[in-house]
Amino acid sequence: MRGLLIGRFQPFHNGHLYVVKEILKEVDELVIAIGSSQRSHTVENPFTGGERLMMIAKSLAENGVVKRRYIIPIPDMDNNSIWVSHVRSLTPPFEKVYSGNTLVKRLFLEVGVKVTTPPLYNREEYSGTEIRARILKGGPWEGLVPKAVVEVIREVDGVRRMRDLSKGDKI
Ligand code: NAD
Repeated sequence: MRGLLIGRFQPFHNGHLYVVKEILKEVDELVIAIGSSQRSHTVENPFTGGERLMMIAKSLAENGVVKRRYIIPIPDMDNNSIWVSHVRSLTPPFEKVYSGNTLVKRLFLEVGVKVTTPPLYNREEYSGTEIRARILKGGPWEGLVPKAVVEVIREVDGVRRMRDLSKGDKI
């Protein structure tokens, strides 16, 4: 059986890593879909699809997860009712979806695909919103993400990018 986990992964954090490892205990293969892959350079979506792909691939590699997974960027669509077909057109076939996102669950359930909500792991800290806020404030965030994510953010000068973007335009 092949499963699909879809997320924005802005950035990929320890909660995501935990859930990938848990799902791999019950599926033969896992498709990790990077949602909103066309978005980047905003406070909510600071990292590009390619940067997030690096974060996920390197984090999984450093945790010994190198087989049985695919990582596929998926751009958003301005039409929710055909989004599931769009996802299917870009991914290997899958039978089961893992998501805690209300809209994602609804769209897959409506076309008869089984959806499971994985249990949240230390949600107060392992949350993209919390991690992005800490990066902006200069709070401790490095311990909330895999080592590889710290390295990718450093490589792309991500902290400075986020702080710059948060200033907005002053005309
Ligand atoms: P996310 O990165 O916030 O979360 C991904 C998944 O990771 C969650 O569903 C949750 O199951 C898991 N997770 C997060 N924190 C965890 C923790 N601490 N412990 C365990 N598991 C944890 O991403 P998201 O918002 O769910 O992403 C949905 C994507 O689908 C978005 O990119 C959205 O734009 C896209 N989408 C697009 C359309 C469209 O284009 N029309 C429609 C629906 C959804």
